[in-house]
Amino acid sequence: MFLLLKKSKGLIANIIELNKFDISLFSGPLADKAKSIIPQIFKSVKKAKLDYKKEIKIPPGDTKFTPKEFWEEIIEKAKSLGIDLIGFAPVDENLMFQNDYVGGIDLLYENGIVLGMEMNYDAINTAPEPPAGLESLNIYAKLGIATNLLADFIRSKGYRVIACHPLGGPILYPAMAVNAKLGHIGKQGLLITKKFGPRQRLSMLTINAGPLPEVQEEKFEISEYCEKCRKCIHFCPVKAIFENPLVNENGTITRIDSDKCFEYFYETTGCSVCIEACPFHKLGYEALYYRRL
Ligand code: SF4
Ligand code: SF4
Repeated sequence: MFLLLKKSKGLIANIIELNKFDISLFSGPLADKAKSIIPQIFKSVKKAKLDYKKEIKIPPGDTKFTPKEFWEEIIEKAKSLGIDLIGFAPVDENLMFQNDYVGGIDLLYENGIVLGMEMNYDAINTAPEPPAGLESLNIYAKLGIATNLLADFIRSKGYRVIACHPLGGPILYPAMAVNAKLGHIGKQGLLITKKFGPRQRLSMLTINAGPLPEVQEEKFEISEYCEKCRKCIHFCPVKAIFENPLVNENGTITRIDSDKCFEYFYETTGCSVCIEACPFHKLGYEALYYRRL
């Protein structure tokens, strides 16, 4: 019955406790903005949870054949919802978490649509001060809402879809984004894209439809630059980024001491120093590339 549904092979997620975000850090207009953003996060998480419960009540059925034109329609719709990045890859069960502490999702359809939304450049430049943290929360809300709306659009066309909220999530989004050819992983464990460097948040939809569209991978390389740079490791206020990443039994890689990172992340309501410090954010890929010529 659940052949088309994917289940975790045991990857452990970090526990995200929403009540640990200290919004008293925000004052004046930032506090007003926080008051409007935070309910949007809770509302969009709740909608994704409810939709998931409805989805798994009904057996998924066969994979639905999807013509090229429908994927193009999805891409256009995503753009109209303010989604900046979209990529496609089969769901890898090795990248699924045993527990999705925020969304409660433990089963996914077989194919993934990875979504990304850019965070505001100037706000991120204030990290670890409150405007940067608030921008993270803002994009969690906006991308969460857009992800749900895109799921509704796909369902309205007769497909089955599970929406995975950007906050938390049942699967390792950056690794899925690499599989979807959206970019590479930086030393700080974040997805680095050619367009925004590490300055985006990610979410996903999973769908019982195929075959996935073929998307050309952009020519884009970061590992050589990262080896020399190491700014994120150097500037992390709590030294949470490993000099030498740990390779886990299932082949996944741990780049961050998440206990150290999360404590500071909660304290500052979103830290973002390892985004702000990254030259792929500050200068952008093109500028760095030409600088090396
Ligand atoms: S978010 Fe902050 S604490 Fe966490 S790894 Fe990045 S710089 Fe370090
Ligand atoms: S700060 Fe430097 S080392 Fe870290 S991800 Fe960015 S380019 Fe790579």
